[in-house]
Amino acid sequence: GHVLRARGLRVTYGGFTALDGVDLELPPGTVTAVVGPNGAGKSTLFHCLAGTVRPDAGRVMFGERDVTRLPAHARTRLGVARTFQQLAVFPTLTVAENVRVGAEQGRVVDPGAVERVSRLLGLDGAVRALPAAGLPTGTLRRVELARALAGSPRVLLLDEPAAGLDTGEVAALARVLRALAADGMALLVVEHDLDLVADLAHTVHVMTAGRIVTSGPTRHVLDNL
Ligand code: ADP
Ligand code: ADP
Repeated sequence: GHVLRARGLRVTYGGFTALDGVDLELPPGTVTAVVGPNGAGKSTLFHCLAGTVRPDAGRVMFGERDVTRLPAHARTRLGVARTFQQLAVFPTLTVAENVRVGAEQGRVVDPGAVERVSRLLGLDGAVRALPAAGLPTGTLRRVELARALAGSPRVLLLDEPAAGLDTGEVAALARVLRALAADGMALLVVEHDLDLVADLAHTVHVMTAGRIVTSGPTRHVLDNL
């Protein structure tokens, strides 16, 4: 399958080492979570996988292809999609237009994608709305996810997907993400909410000070935190 794989990632900011030799694999059909304290390097790792930070050393492979030097938009085209921690819905576009942008930037240009993912995420009723017109956070997060999914990615990178969501919305998000993994997608979740991680992830990696210090099946890792 199409595995996204990081090997020996090292990132320094000035003299400060943010990633200190990180290896990670995202297998198809699996939700992988990265947890750890603030400053551990989770976002930096995420950005290396997404293509928004270039590592000082190490490689990122997508299947057999070395994508270390490919920028984010080119990775999206190959099938590596992402969502943003800071919500990044285009404010002057309708929900449907936002999702269509994702469909055009992705791996597959599928004319039915906007409708398909809007239905999957329960956005049918909102497709004509202007995001700028004050849609609630939960809806904006779904628009973002819909945009990422509209290009039929193989890998989905999610940066704090539960931020600002209520309990019911988190449960709905977890259902959708589990279904995507069951369909064969590889998912990475950087997440503070350990209840969501417990509910969702198959594998958990714990980061501290730029390194992965513990990895394993979710139950096992969370029980020993
Ligand atoms: P986390 O997501 O786990 O909170 P980050 O990857 O955001 O960790 O940050 C890891 C460390 O790198 C932190 O000490 C942070 O202050 C530092 N850092 C992150 N981005 C930058 C940057 N652009 N310039 C300098 N230092 C940074
Ligand atoms: P983080 O995930 O660390 O919070 P951001 O979500 O703010 O980072 O976004 C990371 C980078 O991607 C920023 O440089 C931002 O300007 C850019 N960006 C944000 N939203 C979009 C978008 N919808 N399309 C393309 N680039 C974006």
